[in-house]
Amino acid sequence: MTAVLRVSRTALRGNLASLRARVAPAELMLVVKDDAYGHGLANVIPTALAAGITWIGAFDLPTALRVRALAGDEVRVFAWMVAGDESLRAALDAGIDLGVGDPALLDEVVRLAAARGVTARVHLKIDTGLHRNGIRPEQWPDAVARTAAAQTTGALSLEGVWSHLAEASDDEDDAARALFEQALATVREAGLPRPRAHLAASAAASLRPEFRYDMVRIGAFSYGIRPAGGPGEDDLGIAPVGALEAEVVEVRDSTAVLGIGALDGLPSRLGGRVRALSPAGMVALDHVDDLTTSVAAWPGASVGQTVRLYGTGALSATDLAEAIDTIGEEIAVRLSPLIERRAEDDVRTR
Ligand SMILES: *Cc1c(COP(=O)(O)O)cnc(C)c1O
Repeated sequence: MTAVLRVSRTALRGNLASLRARVAPAELMLVVKDDAYGHGLANVIPTALAAGITWIGAFDLPTALRVRALAGDEVRVFAWMVAGDESLRAALDAGIDLGVGDPALLDEVVRLAAARGVTARVHLKIDTGLHRNGIRPEQWPDAVARTAAAQTTGALSLEGVWSHLAEASDDEDDAARALFEQALATVREAGLPRPRAHLAASAAASLRPEFRYDMVRIGAFSYGIRPAGGPGEDDLGIAPVGALEAEVVEVRDSTAVLGIGALDGLPSRLGGRVRALSPAGMVALDHVDDLTTSVAAWPGASVGQTVRLYGTGALSATDLAEAIDTIGEEIAVRLSPLIERRAEDDVRTR
């Protein structure tokens, strides 16, 4: 293998500790969608558990079941892309917490749980303006009434009320929060025991305390991926967890050729726009071809040496993203699953 993503357990632990301290007393749910933002579920879960994480956000049911298998029964696993009776039955049996953003799905969950004799852990999602799955405000009182009825039969336990922010502007997020407050009031008035409220992801959780409620769902910042155009890692108290390295496979004239290319998920538009960390310091990244990447050679460049494309000591994934007008998450999750992910206690600069 000529390329590897080194995954620093130390950086992950540090980020989780710093983010938990920042959002306390709200709980931190670690979001692990897209194979833990490209870092590898199996690399991330054990470290997260050792760091005291008690909630994991998995996105879909197959991922939630994988997390359950990796993490055991103690941890709470939340999935919000809930589809397919087969997966839903397995999720109910595995005690997965289900994000339910649609009245028809609420009925389906209650029906399946009753048939299996289990209690579904439900987190009702109010649509606060994103219009991407979520019970609309006009449907909310009815959904809450049906939730209360199902709770008395034991088929359902209302564990949470939640939504997701657009994070396009503070004004929009404030409007979303007002709708969220109304939805919480409706739940209170229905006489249901107070469920956990959760609304914020990385940015709002870190920067806007009034959005934290009982729990925050944090993906990007856990992995040290800062927002494009936003505050830096130091301000946020985070550090990059992943470091992408590739070996020199050929040296010709003034060019060192690396064994990683666009087909491995490195965007070709990076060519001519960023620099990479060679054994002799930063060098220009000239172009990204299908299978290889050319960087400016350094004195003594030789086959087998490694160059760091992003990560501690080099540019960050978000630095790369900013050079091509995208976001750091995009750089991280585009990396081909065929590239080895290697968890290490510490990923040194060199
Ligand atoms: C992806 C996602 C998150 C985490 O977002 P980050 O900005 O990466 O922290 C939280 N909640 C939901 C519903 C998501 O889809």
